Amino acid sequence: MMYHSTRGGMEPRPFSDILLEGLAPDGGLTIPVTLPTVSADQLESWRPLSYPQLAYQVLRLFITDIPAQDLETLVNAAYSRDVFDDDSIVPLKPLNQGMTLLGLSQGPTLAFKDMAMQFLGQVFEYVLTARNEKINILGATSGDTGSAAEYALRGKQGIAVFMLSPQGRMSAFQRAQMYSLQDENIHNLAIDGVFDDCQDIVKQLAGDLDFKAKYRLGAVNSINWARIAAQIVYYFWGWLRATSRPGQEVSFAVPSGNFGNILAGHLARQMKLPVRRLVLATNENNVLEEFFRTGVYRPRSAEQTHATSSPSMDISRASNFERFVFDLLDQDTRRVSETWAALATHGEFDLSHLQPLFESRYGFVAGTSTHQDRVDTIRTVYQETGTLIDPHTADGVKVAAQYVEAGVPMLVLETALPAKFADVIHEAVGIDAPVPAHLRDLAERPQRVTNLACDAELVRQYIAQHAVT
Ligand SMILES: *Cc1c(COP(=O)(O)O)cnc(C)c1O
Repeated sequence: MMYHSTRGGMEPRPFSDILLEGLAPDGGLTIPVTLPTVSADQLESWRPLSYPQLAYQVLRLFITDIPAQDLETLVNAAYSRDVFDDDSIVPLKPLNQGMTLLGLSQGPTLAFKDMAMQFLGQVFEYVLTARNEKINILGATSGDTGSAAEYALRGKQGIAVFMLSPQGRMSAFQRAQMYSLQDENIHNLAIDGVFDDCQDIVKQLAGDLDFKAKYRLGAVNSINWARIAAQIVYYFWGWLRATSRPGQEVSFAVPSGNFGNILAGHLARQMKLPVRRLVLATNENNVLEEFFRTGVYRPRSAEQTHATSSPSMDISRASNFERFVFDLLDQDTRRVSETWAALATHGEFDLSHLQPLFESRYGFVAGTSTHQDRVDTIRTVYQETGTLIDPHTADGVKVAAQYVEAGVPMLVLETALPAKFADVIHEAVGIDAPVPAHLRDLAERPQRVTNLACDAELVRQYIAQHAVT
């Protein structure tokens, strides 16, 4: 299995070569040269498998340059009962109105990003060790991604993490989650500024190519192919658990921001998993819903991006979207390059002539929710089923409800647990969201964080002193 770029300017390379890179050298995103497909017989043979066994079967289709036994060991370590708080790793829970939750948030940070990050942590360490290399991960976070990366990379050989967060702007729960990590290779840097200031410092340091090369700076952002590959697994898992016969269709509803999660669903469907619809749910930041409704992709500015009660979906542009448009444009790398050149010039692009295909060929439909929709949905689901859902998952449930069809299971991806967003839960149902037993003493744990003024030079000095080299 080899990988090339959506824009055509990269010689095919194996998985381990693209693992540690961000963008492809031509500015595009890496994708398989040929997507594997899975036959109905093969799918049936996977029914008895546990989650890690299934993950191994799916990931080996994409990772052919790591010996099979080693890959199996990595997958077993990533998806173990020590890491995930459920015997099945990904439980399914029936909801109201014919919907079912796909429980992707049983990992250490209570959000679906653990599903991909835990595998990423294992495979990073493996490849770095094999190549006798080291890497210093530099990132900025407003909450979920940074903590998922820290929990996946804590204690790993040859890896240090420098995670910038805006001082005093995360929830107490999110702060405690990140800052209570005592591992020496994890560095929490609380910056006296907002998230965009943190992001600017990261861009400035990563843009200094001498500094970047000297300290081997890397990133674990949502365009990383290993994360997408690991996410494909749970679409297969959801289908296997929700169906009982070959070819039976299911639909998936996905709370979306950067288009990483639902891209994995699209790829699973292209691999011939029997998926009827992919229901894309956004909040008030509806860049993607607008695209699927009109065919026009119009990213927003930071000022036009709303701060909502499903904050992990507050995006202005969808960083993984190019991989879907690549398929939409019949994998024509020249047209993808032209489309992104038009985006750079005009701030938007128009594929409205292809809009009829979005649903008929690719199964995509989309919808949005407001804060009031999420609060109402959390309350209704709780009253009708006794299950509490978080505001992101509520975005998914609200939009999914419009697309439920008799005889087609509707799996809504649970992207976070309600404990992470206690104030919205309180507003909706007037009770405190239950905190998993292993986190009840979180607030009392000692915290380890370095406060820094909003100055890239200070971060540069800190990295120079603490980097693994
Ligand atoms: C990251 C995140 C999302 C959005 O996922 P994308 O892959 O960016 O579309 C949704 N919900 C939660 C809780 C998240 O952390």
